[in-house]
Amino acid sequence: MATQMMMHDFEAMISRRCRAIDVSGIRSVFELGAELADPINLSIGQPDFPVPEALKQSAIDAIRADHNGYTLTQGIPELRERIAAHLTQDIGWDMSAGDLSVLVSSGTSGALLLASMALLDPGDEIIVGDPYFVAYPAIAELAGATLVCCNTHPDFRLTAARVERAITPSTKILLLNSPGNPSGVVLTGDELRDLVELCRAHGVLIVSDEIYDEFTYADAREGGRCPSPARFTDEMLLVRGFGKSYGCTGWRMGYAAGPAKIIREMAKLQQYTFVCAPSMAQYGLLGVFDVDMSGMVEAYRRRRDMVLEAFEGVTDVARPGGAFYAFVEVPGALGLTASEFVHRGIERNVLTIPGSVFSRRDTHFRLSYAAREDKLRAGLDILVGLMSDIPTTA
Ligand code: PMP
Repeated sequence: MATQMMMHDFEAMISRRCRAIDVSGIRSVFELGAELADPINLSIGQPDFPVPEALKQSAIDAIRADHNGYTLTQGIPELRERIAAHLTQDIGWDMSAGDLSVLVSSGTSGALLLASMALLDPGDEIIVGDPYFVAYPAIAELAGATLVCCNTHPDFRLTAARVERAITPSTKILLLNSPGNPSGVVLTGDELRDLVELCRAHGVLIVSDEIYDEFTYADAREGGRCPSPARFTDEMLLVRGFGKSYGCTGWRMGYAAGPAKIIREMAKLQQYTFVCAPSMAQYGLLGVFDVDMSGMVEAYRRRRDMVLEAFEGVTDVARPGGAFYAFVEVPGALGLTASEFVHRGIERNVLTIPGSVFSRRDTHFRLSYAAREDKLRAGLDILVGLMSDIPTTA
């Protein structure tokens, strides 16, 4: 039996769509990092605080109360109602009229995948800002659509003027991500309003990935809130998640909200793929909007300031207004690609991610400051030291 199985060329069996997806950039950093005994890890894309006690307790209670079976595909009504109430209060959407709806998804990734499968056909174009979240090219590829990268270097602001140049008759979606991964840059309300108007004029649907909305610092908030295109239109798809905001990335919880006609199709796909979001996590998060994370956000704001101060006068860093990343330029005088610089960091025990993973360029690296302050300080000292190693021409 075993020898018969060996007759198959498994590699040749892999689909074209799967072959088109490349994970080598991230894998090489993880592999190198795995060889280090106690690295200063500034590569992690998740918060370093535990899940708030109240949420832990309600997830445990949910398991004990036997909420361990399938739920309705769209999510338990109690959680969908709370999300709807939150959206009405946060962005002013009227969720009661029936034109808008909510789907609870398996992580933000689940919502993004369902959205692209529900909306994109081969030949359709989806515009993303470059640098982009690492999964966006794969999400476009899985739907057979064409990813169009809109260069936002060096300030990482996806402005209407930049997007307009990327729009063609085939453009179907503009995928926004503010606060952004990997840059932490937060677009202003004015910038978002211009994008909404541009997309309306061209019949392009905005999908807004706002997984970091809770992690927006006071200096990037407007009216106390994270700026969102959703304040200017409800003819768009809003995607948010709970993993980053409440430290529960492993619970795989997110949601999509927007036109009921789109949400219905996403639910149809969820039924045959993810089936539903994890049941105990749905119950566990019923009280989520009552949890105050401002202390954590303030702690991350302090670390953001540490990062900006460390690199001041050394290299350019676009000011992060949220999330817990900075996208740092490797000084040109070093004569190194970002990948080469990241390897030098790894030789000194510091892990970061090269920009080539998030961009068509290899000029920056992503630093995550979701790390203990003493570790962050030590890592920053090493990285700044490496930047001072300017080669002298003999
Ligand atoms: N969007 C962005 C911009 C992200 O950074 C991430 C996670 N790193 C996700 C989506 C996926 O999040 P989730 O764990 O909720 O699937």
